[in-house]
Amino acid sequence: MTVERVPAGLVGATSHGHLLELIRSADGLSRQQLLSTTGMSRATLYQRLDTLTRRGYIYEAEPLGSTGGRPSRKIRFEDRGRVVLALTLGQTHGTASIADTTGRQLRSVTRELDISGPADSVLGPLIADGRGLLAQGPKETLLGIGVSLPTPVEAGTGYVRHSTTIPGWAPDSVVQAVRAAWALPLVVENDARAAGLGERNSDTETVVYVKVGTGIGCGIVVEGSILRGAHGAAGDIGHIRMTSDGPLCRCGRHGCLAAYSSGRALREKLGGRGLETMADIHAAAKAGDPGVLDALESAAETLGRALAATITTLNPDRLVLGGDLGSLDLFVHQVGERVITDVVDRIAEGLIVEAGRPEDQAACSGLATLVMRKIFSPAAVDQVFSQETVRVTAGSIGR
Ligand SMILES: [Zn+2]
Repeated sequence: MTVERVPAGLVGATSHGHLLELIRSADGLSRQQLLSTTGMSRATLYQRLDTLTRRGYIYEAEPLGSTGGRPSRKIRFEDRGRVVLALTLGQTHGTASIADTTGRQLRSVTRELDISGPADSVLGPLIADGRGLLAQGPKETLLGIGVSLPTPVEAGTGYVRHSTTIPGWAPDSVVQAVRAAWALPLVVENDARAAGLGERNSDTETVVYVKVGTGIGCGIVVEGSILRGAHGAAGDIGHIRMTSDGPLCRCGRHGCLAAYSSGRALREKLGGRGLETMADIHAAAKAGDPGVLDALESAAETLGRALAATITTLNPDRLVLGGDLGSLDLFVHQVGERVITDVVDRIAEGLIVEAGRPEDQAACSGLATLVMRKIFSPAAVDQVFSQETVRVTAGSIGR
């Protein structure tokens, strides 16, 4: 019995969209459960369920056990064979994934890329990978596409703005490239925000996700929603200035957090020693190279100090680290130690600091959530039905 999981705000809601949300969020319900949860009249409820069934939003699933008479069946959200395509881009590699409607990665292809190249040369091969993956599931139905990028993305439009990573890309380059391939719902999101959303265990959790890859990104998820801030920049911690006379950052200023604690900063610091890639640095750290361990500790220390303020402000359930550097156990441990030392006990107690899932899986999961919300949120579904009502009414005039 899963009625307890019905979000409180949906109890008593009766539109087609709210009914669908009830059924989706509760992993299926019987007609009796829907009647008692919504308080709707039987006639209205059954009429709406019939409409949702005919339109392919729901289906009658397994019998619930007979109480005499016709056995009642559980009503489920129609997710059979439906998939989402996720294209998750980092600065040096990108993954195309097919996910089910819960965001679970079903199959994927990863390729190396250089995101500083022209948009078409970066996106074209990933879109081709997506087509290849879709061809492997001919019976699947693609619902929509999600794309994540290591750069700020404008909510709503999916435009790339204020980018230090890909300053040469036109704001609408991602939207145009994907729309040319598929005429389906599309969500474009910052990579750390997508991964943060994918890392949440429930919609009551507050999660701070920090991606430490080539650069530093941060996604804050409060009770199931991405925190964006007044101008969309909430959590953009990579360019907090730790000192005014520190090393030069890629943004042109001195002493940013990214100039101390990012993968790029670490590579530059250690590059003279023949450690050119993150894989080289991983291997040297595992082998106990003292110079590498010192550099890692220093990077973790600075990041932990910067994060103490964020953690104190938000008091999250979990601080999750991801990315090439952020997924190193030693690094996660050192960042966690610093944060827990620097915040007050009430914040530190119960705070979980951990490495996340592989980032492409986390971001894929978050993107699938965003695509599903875009198509199946109560507002989106009700809008589809209200537009149809308008069309039917208009079509009736003059008959
Ligand atoms: Zn900077």
